[in-house]
Amino acid sequence: MRLVIVGGGPAGLAAAIEARLAGVDAVVVERCAGPVDKACGEGLMPAGVSHLHRLGVEVPAWATHPFRGVRYIDATSGRRVVAEAGFGSGTGLGIRRTGLSEALRARASALGVELRERTEALSLHADDGGVTLETSAGPVRGDYLVGADGLHSQVRKWAGIGAVTGPRRRLGIRRHYTVRPWSDYVEVWWADDVEAYVTPVGPERVGVAFLWSGRRGRGDLETFLGRFPELAERLGPAESTVRGAGPFDVRVATQAAGRVLLLGDAAGYVDALTGEGLALGFEQAQALVGLCVSGKAKEWPARWSALTRRHRWFTRALLQLADRPWLRRAVVRGLAANPWAFRLALNQGAGRLALRG
Ligand SMILES: Cc1cc2nc3c(=O)[nH]c(=O)nc-3n(C[C@H](O)[C@H](O)[C@H](O)COP(=O)(O)OP(=O)(O)OC[C@H]3O[C@@H](n4cnc5c(N)ncnc54)[C@H](O)[C@@H]3O)c2cc1C
Repeated sequence: MRLVIVGGGPAGLAAAIEARLAGVDAVVVERCAGPVDKACGEGLMPAGVSHLHRLGVEVPAWATHPFRGVRYIDATSGRRVVAEAGFGSGTGLGIRRTGLSEALRARASALGVELRERTEALSLHADDGGVTLETSAGPVRGDYLVGADGLHSQVRKWAGIGAVTGPRRRLGIRRHYTVRPWSDYVEVWWADDVEAYVTPVGPERVGVAFLWSGRRGRGDLETFLGRFPELAERLGPAESTVRGAGPFDVRVATQAAGRVLLLGDAAGYVDALTGEGLALGFEQAQALVGLCVSGKAKEWPARWSALTRRHRWFTRALLQLADRPWLRRAVVRGLAANPWAFRLALNQGAGRLALRG
């Protein structure tokens, strides 16, 4: 059996590694060359860390910093309110995307994955026997085609799978700063129109990602940073360019059309505010390859739905806080006064993955 995977992001590379570990051939078609960078908060939840260990992926020390929970900081009412919760089990990992990409690529290559970089997927043709992908470097044929080509997947379109974007039109941007991490928590700083996600991603590096509703305008990183003077004061010099992504909340009609299967963000994505995209991508990769190997690929949409249900529900619930400042202030105050409730929410919602990992 041979899997053709479009997209050498975390989900696509994880699927290729899973395939090789199961004795299946895998080709990854990726338009970029070298380690791929992307706008991301770069916080890998404990379950994601467990998946990396299971897959034998060794992340480089220069690109990582562990974290042990999530801290909310809200200073919008004139008073600084801080709520924090640790993971029930395991440790999260702040991980620079280029470091993650490098590590996944190294493991994939060592296992014999055929990595075709600088190669653009252009179209596909599926028949009873398999799928042919046309690329900028010629055709590639496989038994199944996995579309792991991100939020605005072309594979999805070519397979005739419908997708709509929700009304919030949330967007994200990120930048890195040279500074020794001051915390072993991922910090979420709340303002009324934007959130800042601060993740330690190296011994001397902190990443800051901003999320906001694009209905309020395009947004500018320096303006957003100005909303958090205390945070801005802590940061050292900027060391990366600004990168953005969105809009999120892409609702996808189904995750499979015949022999074409969607994976990771391409399969549907709600929002980045729970920091689970990477862990979910790894979890999906394991399940999807397992189904292909056991001849049950048809079951993928139902499995995807079961796998992501809690996450989708929890993320939509949290989005209510981003939409309603009065509710958010009350909730953050409540969580600060009742840390057990935050722990419960983290480990039942976002941390559910963590507990299983
Ligand atoms: C601002 C922001 C903050 C986030 N914070 C976090 C966080 O803290 N923790 C977390 O876990 N997740 C976070 N996420 C989500 C996470 O980044 C995504 O869920 C994850 O990158 C999805 O991986 P993927 O492999 O599905 O897609 P991608 O990472 O988008 O990879 C898709 C790949 O496909 C390639 N590709 C696309 N089209 C083609 C084509 N036609 N031919 C060839 N190659 C192609 C692209 O070059 C790319 O390499 C965040 C996202 C954003 C935007």
